[in-house]
Parts: sequence; structure tokens; C-alpha cells
Amino acid sequence: MVSTHTFRVETRGRTDIVDITARVAEAVRGTGTAVVFVGGSTAGITTVEFEPGLVRDLKEAWERVAPEGKDYHHHATWGDDNGSAHVRAALLGPSLSVPFVEGRLLLGTWQQIVLVDFDTRARSREIVVQVHAG
Ligand code: ZN
Repeated sequence: MVSTHTFRVETRGRTDIVDITARVAEAVRGTGTAVVFVGGSTAGITTVEFEPGLVRDLKEAWERVAPEGKDYHHHATWGDDNGSAHVRAALLGPSLSVPFVEGRLLLGTWQQIVLVDFDTRARSREIVVQVHAG
């Protein structure tokens, strides 16, 4: 059986990293796989050990990969200022599959599911959790 759940997350943008593990866990019942997806081309989903030091490390890593102040071709196309956000989001990817057994996500002890919002402004994001369970 497939069921689809959604919830919203308000972010501050600029590589805001938000722990959404509890919200995803609420959606799963039985045993199967949950697909966690964010609609939008300037945000992504991954897992991290959600602690302040690593959150800073990741922000610094993404800044090295696609610096925010640089001039991007995307800016010329739309007059946007968020070329770095699009590049970072494309590299991270918009979705994640997480297996669960008897309602429990099979995450590691130090592994949380996070939304990363790279956009250059605050955003309201819709997160989709599509649950495939037996
Ligand atoms: Zn853009």
C-alpha cells in the first residue's frame, strides 16, 4: 500500500539545515520504505549527525563547492541571485529513501534526516513523505 503525507517547514534559507526526523517518523506504519522528497530546485534532503559543529562544517564545505558571492550564468538568465543554491541543491539531490520495520526508521544512532535549504532567502517548504508499506 502507498500513502502520501506532507508537512511544511519554514526555513531561513542560506544553507539552513533543519532536522525533520521526527516528522518523517510520524508518517510511517508497518514495514517498508519511505521516500522523503522536497519539491523545489534550491533545497535538498540528506542525513547527517545533527550537531552544531558538523552543521557549521557542512555549511563551510558547500561554500567551498559553490560560493555564494560568485557570478553564475543562472543570474543572467533570470536576474536571480541564487545560482549557488541551485548548484548545491543539484549536487545534494531532492530525495532520500529510508527503510523502516514495524514503524521504526532504520537510521543509525547518530543519523538524522535533514532538509537543507540553500536559497538566498527565507522559504516555506513542503516535504512529501511517500510511504510504501506491506
Ligand atoms: Zn534561481
